[in-house]
Amino acid sequence: MAVVVMKFGGTSVANVERIKNVARHVKREVDAGNKVAVVVSAMSGATNQLVAWVNEASPLADKREYDAVVASGEQVTAGLTAIVLQDMGIKARSWQGWQVPIETSEAHGSARISGIAGEALMASLNAGEVAVITGFQGVEPKANRIATLGRGGSDTSAVAIAVAIKADVCDIYTDVDGVYTTDPRIVPKARRLPKVSYEEMLEMASSGSKVLQTRSVELAMVNQVKTRVLSSFVKPEDMAPVRAGNLENIGTIVCGEDEIVENQVVSGIAYARDEAKITMLKLQDKPGIAARIFGPLADASINVDMIVQNVAADGHHTDMTFTVQAAELPRALAVLKAAMVDIGEFELQSSADVAKVSVIGIGMRSHAGVAAHMFKALADKGINILAISTSEIKISVLIDAAYAELAVRTLHSIYGLDAA
Ligand code: ADP
Ligand code: ASP
Ligand code: MG
Repeated sequence: MAVVVMKFGGTSVANVERIKNVARHVKREVDAGNKVAVVVSAMSGATNQLVAWVNEASPLADKREYDAVVASGEQVTAGLTAIVLQDMGIKARSWQGWQVPIETSEAHGSARISGIAGEALMASLNAGEVAVITGFQGVEPKANRIATLGRGGSDTSAVAIAVAIKADVCDIYTDVDGVYTTDPRIVPKARRLPKVSYEEMLEMASSGSKVLQTRSVELAMVNQVKTRVLSSFVKPEDMAPVRAGNLENIGTIVCGEDEIVENQVVSGIAYARDEAKITMLKLQDKPGIAARIFGPLADASINVDMIVQNVAADGHHTDMTFTVQAAELPRALAVLKAAMVDIGEFELQSSADVAKVSVIGIGMRSHAGVAAHMFKALADKGINILAISTSEIKISVLIDAAYAELAVRTLHSIYGLDAA
């Protein structure tokens, strides 16, 4: 007997027919004697529609009401999934975030899970019931209001539930059969990674590989939750049920580095188009200027990613380029203009027509020359680099958006990741 979390994303629950398919996956686990907690997303497209309605009603809508609206998609699929399971003769009950309860921070729209009381859920599982839980949402306990976890947040709900009920595995069912060396929609030659380390997956997710939400990987890493990425489109009968202590190597297993025998220098390429570039020209070059720029941005909860500062050619003035989320660009520009009294005079340029391309691999720790190889390959294709940032296992470059796919394909190929 194993305790299993099964999370199904939007395309996997896109209509009642697909929900019936999901129910057959669940039945396979129940028939094997496993205790199953199911976490569901909204039907694909549903959350986008809800967000669009909120924006139409008011672009500056109260975030608490935004959450009240956008959390509703998951309520529909949780109820439908429980109904379909019951219809198949399986004991099942739906749970919304507040019923579990899944408690969150007050950051409506991108709240963090602060705690899950697993007892009531566990009692339900012990009574032989399948618990079908709404992903993406929880309850902020102080004001007792629904809060959502940010787009793609059902992955994080699933991992958090897995921690709360001490599940043997957290299976994330989606529309691809695992994590690939890069987005298989962009590079058909991408290869499935049988295993990927938490750290690499974290860098891939935070660099734009949205197959898993970044926070879900963080949570899995901290709590050492065995997480698998699988396709729900494989026939439910063709998959073996989970057995505790003997996890089948299908899809991709996200696990500790020590469990990966063969390490590639580069394991994956990620790209993100949702960043925007801000350049501040003719800034005074003296101590304290960077603090006066990034302090007000931080106070406005605007995350800055890459930063480049030029040397002062004339000894007095310098230029600074950095990136923010494209959706935050108007706000960031407003904050900087308001801070001009403190920063001093400067000229402002910005563009959302940029993309960030990243190469990721734990092998970089012990191999020199990965960055040089990357820059040479991009230069050979005539791709100009606007900014660079690195971590121990990642190198990211900012380029013109028009070159994003060419850059991803080129890098995928030069690091030997193309499928034969
Ligand atoms: P779900 O609705 O099931 O949560 P998502 O759309 O959030 O599914 O995530 C799955 C998608 O992630 C895939 O369809 C794929 O296009 C995209 N993706 C991006 N990068 C990768 C990658 N490295 N490996 C696999 N899929 C990726
Ligand atoms: N339905 C939510 C979204 O579209 C959460 C998720 O799918 O994970 O972002
Ligand atoms: Mg997703």
